[in-house]
Amino acid sequence: MDCLFCKIVNGDIPARMLYEDDQVIAFHDIAPQAPVHFLVIPKKHIATLHDASEEDRALLGHILYTAQRLAREQGCEEGFRVVMNCNALGGQTVYHIHLHVLGQRQLHWPPG
Ligand code: 5GP
Ligand code: ZN
Repeated sequence: MDCLFCKIVNGDIPARMLYEDDQVIAFHDIAPQAPVHFLVIPKKHIATLHDASEEDRALLGHILYTAQRLAREQGCEEGFRVVMNCNALGGQTVYHIHLHVLGQRQLHWPPG
């Protein structure tokens, strides 16, 4: 499958890995928007959040929980932001779901 993040899951494209288990991986974003900016993604290919189904509910929870644990490990115990963009209108550019975790700078809302 011609999916960039599936290639990272399979090790075909290198990434600065942070974490791996049987369901998810986490790696640093190639174009960080904050001193800490990493992505948590499922190993399973799900193109957009709209494509997640009932059977993916636990996996989605695991992604969020993993983000929280890794954010703390990365020194973001005082606070951080998670973002998941859905489809072009939501700013998604890579069509394999990924949770952005941003931290170690003051983040403002709304982001613009
Ligand atoms: P999106 O806009 O889809 O929510 O976010 C895609 C993210 O993937 C962007 O922040 C972008 O910098 C990151 N990205 C794109 N290509 C690569 C890559 O090859 N390696 C890594 N580590 N991150 C990537
Ligand atoms: Zn994929």
